[in-house]
Amino acid sequence: MSDAADLVTEIRGCRLCAERFAATATAHAPRPVPWFEAGARLLIAGQAPGMRVHESGRPFDDRSGDRLRDWLGIDRDSFYDRTRVAVVPMAFCFPGYDAAGSDLPPPPLCRATWHDRVMAALGPKPLTVAIGQYAQRYHLGTKGTVADAVSRWRDLLPAAIALPHPSWRNTGWLKRHPWFEAELLPALRARVAEVLA
Ligand code: SF4
Repeated sequence: MSDAADLVTEIRGCRLCAERFAATATAHAPRPVPWFEAGARLLIAGQAPGMRVHESGRPFDDRSGDRLRDWLGIDRDSFYDRTRVAVVPMAFCFPGYDAAGSDLPPPPLCRATWHDRVMAALGPKPLTVAIGQYAQRYHLGTKGTVADAVSRWRDLLPAAIALPHPSWRNTGWLKRHPWFEAELLPALRARVAEVLA
């Protein structure tokens, strides 16, 4: 097995956050969802799996994923081809809900334990699509808000880009920022097509 394949197996067996997750409102057990192989040319760096991915074991297998694939200009077959696309969130497990029913943040222990090793195992740096504040801070070194990072897309391309979460909750933000669809998405789709060609 390759280093990346060994690492995927190791991450799948990780239970470091068992006590932490047992103490959440969902009281769930860890279910890591590592999704990468060496040599992927596109890296989707998100926050953490939600409940649906926790149940299915497949990243972005929901309406948000459909919107993300539309933003990237790729179909499901390409998106789920691990030799081409890696999906590496800042925590590999669903972090649970807080008492108010909101997603908890990704446990920092996951990034500290795994992420430098995962990035090394991927090989030459892929085009990095960083979704949300935690991934943007780790991958892009940004310090401000998600909106600030997204608005800097011209500076970040061709190596990377920052996106808001493709959740339907962000539809209002997208409508208030028409340049996102009119300018950023065409540039993103062109760059994704280039790296996956
Ligand atoms: S979130 Fe990361 S560190 Fe915590 S149990 Fe899952 S894989 Fe392990």
